[in-house]
Amino acid sequence: MPVDKCSFCGRTKNQVNLLIAGQTGHICDSCVEQANAIVAEELKKRGDFDVNKISLLKPVEIKKLLGQYVIGQDTAKKYLSVSVYNHYKRLLQGKNGDDDVEIEKSNIILVGATGTGKTLLARTIARLLHVPFTIVDATVLTEAGYVGEDVESILSRLLQVADYNVAAAEKGIVFIDEIDKIARKGDNPSITRDVSGEGVQQGLLKLLEGSIVNVPPQGGRKHPDQKMIQVDTKNILFVCGGAFDGIEKKIAQRLNTKVVGYTASKQTETIDRNNYLQYIAPQDLKSFGLIPEIIGRLPVLTYLNPLDRNALRAILTDPKNAIIKQYKKLFKMDDINLEFAPEVLEYIVDKAIEFKLGARGLRSICESIMMDVMFDMPEDKELLITLEYARKKLEGETAKRLKAA
Ligand code: ADP
Repeated sequence: MPVDKCSFCGRTKNQVNLLIAGQTGHICDSCVEQANAIVAEELKKRGDFDVNKISLLKPVEIKKLLGQYVIGQDTAKKYLSVSVYNHYKRLLQGKNGDDDVEIEKSNIILVGATGTGKTLLARTIARLLHVPFTIVDATVLTEAGYVGEDVESILSRLLQVADYNVAAAEKGIVFIDEIDKIARKGDNPSITRDVSGEGVQQGLLKLLEGSIVNVPPQGGRKHPDQKMIQVDTKNILFVCGGAFDGIEKKIAQRLNTKVVGYTASKQTETIDRNNYLQYIAPQDLKSFGLIPEIIGRLPVLTYLNPLDRNALRAILTDPKNAIIKQYKKLFKMDDINLEFAPEVLEYIVDKAIEFKLGARGLRSICESIMMDVMFDMPEDKELLITLEYARKKLEGETAKRLKAA
């Protein structure tokens, strides 16, 4: 009878600790370990990034996966899924492109009130794709030569996240938050230098469209003696987000002025006046103060809905890493079975609405309720948070503090 041997190193069963049987051969424990190390090393070399792997996710699948973490926001999820899919298809095309049709980059702009999930969407996409991801705040950027950060520092952060693996960073995703804050102030383009507005937009242009940029590795301001790293932004996907406070008025104005003539009454009837954001169009961004060149380089424009009661309630318990699930896990680690009375969850949502804190508020309200019990850690193995307890904890100073925030 033939002796079982490792098909890789040839050692027999009694020469190794463990021999695992496959369909046509065997592998021993030390070969498994060695193979594992080779895989890890290879993935690291490639920056844990494999375009081929990414292309397997279809838009419908991307959207479904997003749904595990992000509640609602169907339109934004759909737009994001499609543009991310196309973006990575474009990367594939780069490898085996054999015709003259060049697929252009599909940078995205998300418009929606603060705390509705813009950052969460971008972060989740990056996590699904295993690509380097960074968030930068547009408000810290200034035109070159002024106090603040040069636009190139955006890429320094991406490089840092990618462990200075330039090839990986060049396929990453950058989320530029508060893009609305660099809108041109006033309608007159010739007002004296607009340091934090139009100048920064001009600076961003070359990043968004794709060019080779000299990046200071440590970020911050460019130093004459700092060694620069060259980064090509051609394949970096930029997702911009902003609340664009007051843009609804501009959308409404546009819709109302357009709707004239005999079909007017019919058309205005179908406009949902409670949510103008759903009609957002590039020209509204222009009226808000983004320069046309920037708008042109953010071809995918979509919006996020304000979170209603049902959405807030779902955010508490439904996402994969929902806040309530996190508390339960924390207590489980101490062998305590934590439960919340259903009316407590309703109460938390009520308070988040009352304090006008949106989804961001859910977390701080929960913290206020749970702080004492997390500090004391009860002896009992069963812990039920009742409405009475939650009320008591949130009342008084904490409520005042939250209201003032
Ligand atoms: P912003 O739109 O200001 O970028 P974020 O994405 O940072 O908002 O949201 C803040 C927090 O609120 C998130 O970390 C998440 O916990 C929660 N949140 C906001 N919107 C949603 C959503 N649609 N689904 C699930 N959680 C959300």
